Amino acid sequence: MIEYTSLLQNYNLYKEEYEEAALRALRSGWYILGPELESFEEQFASYLGAKHCIGVNSGTDALILAVRALGIGPGDEVIVPAGTYIASVLGVTENGAEPVYADSDPETLLIDADKIEGAITDKTKAILPVHLYGQACDMTKIMDIAKRHGLYVIEDCAQCHGSKWNGKLTGTEGTVSCFSFYPTKPLGALGDAGALVTDDDELADKLRMLRNYGSRVKYVNESIGRNSRLDEVQAAVLKVGLKHLFETNGIRIRIAEKYLQGIHNDKVKLTLTDPNATHVYHLFPVIVDDQKKFQDYLLENGVKTQVHYPIPPYVAECYKNHGHKWEDFPNAAYIAQHEVSLPIYSGMKDEDVQEVIRVVNGY
Ligand SMILES: *Cc1c(COP(=O)(O)O)cnc(C)c1O
Repeated sequence: MIEYTSLLQNYNLYKEEYEEAALRALRSGWYILGPELESFEEQFASYLGAKHCIGVNSGTDALILAVRALGIGPGDEVIVPAGTYIASVLGVTENGAEPVYADSDPETLLIDADKIEGAITDKTKAILPVHLYGQACDMTKIMDIAKRHGLYVIEDCAQCHGSKWNGKLTGTEGTVSCFSFYPTKPLGALGDAGALVTDDDELADKLRMLRNYGSRVKYVNESIGRNSRLDEVQAAVLKVGLKHLFETNGIRIRIAEKYLQGIHNDKVKLTLTDPNATHVYHLFPVIVDDQKKFQDYLLENGVKTQVHYPIPPYVAECYKNHGHKWEDFPNAAYIAQHEVSLPIYSGMKDEDVQEVIRVVNGY
């Protein structure tokens, strides 16, 4: 059986380094807001060429705090992709603001930048592009729209560590960028973790306050904050992952190249990578004629797959009061019902890659 992913194989690539880092943090006697986090924040900011990195508990928390720090709340609207993971939208609704959806592009599966302007109203405060599957959205168009309408840009970078748009690392163009270090992500911790990245001094200061109970000075609470911090053990482990990020991204990019060259089947459509984007293939999505039939066939032939994502947020049970129907965003609906992700992870054996290609071509 070819597994959909294997975190253990990924871990084993750098086992000694991970264990040495974790042990160093464990033995330090300092577990929250200490030197490991400080140096990881410095390293991640400098990797991106950004001024500030603020470590938090998760990517979801990063999104919630980004929206809050920008003062976006009840009565405000944020434009989000119709096709994305729910967490992209939770940051908006958690602050009482309204998500306004823009449909997906059927070729790249990302937000269709040409659908954004039509969704802007006088309540719109921000655009929240999601660089899904490891590919950057069209940041040229998105930044241009944001500038012309005076909107913030909150980048959801949970799946795109190390990917680029026009040679620039994703997460460096918007007002603030939200990263997840969930274990499966291109840069993954060995538990939950996330971070915000920004060049804005004032915003960074506010985010540091919000992640720590809303206080700058101990026991002086000026804002209603949260407890959302990236712990020392995860920060130590993340420094190891960051050191090898180029390499692990490269492993997946080479697997993707083999899929792109080897898969030839009229019933299996490969997705488009924009020529301006450097894709890091967090996932390898394909579009198939019949999602269930394809998944069952692959499973019968020893290949596990997943769907990202079968129920788009705009029709999620929790948002049924928003009153959206599947057909409101036909491209996102089509993707949800026809997308299947093939196995792709660092540590995947070449013979398994070849077997996936053989099975997919035999479908
Ligand atoms: C994983 C993910 C998140 C949430 O990150 P967590 O660290 O799991 O909270 C947000 N947005 C997208 C697109 C994701 O894939």
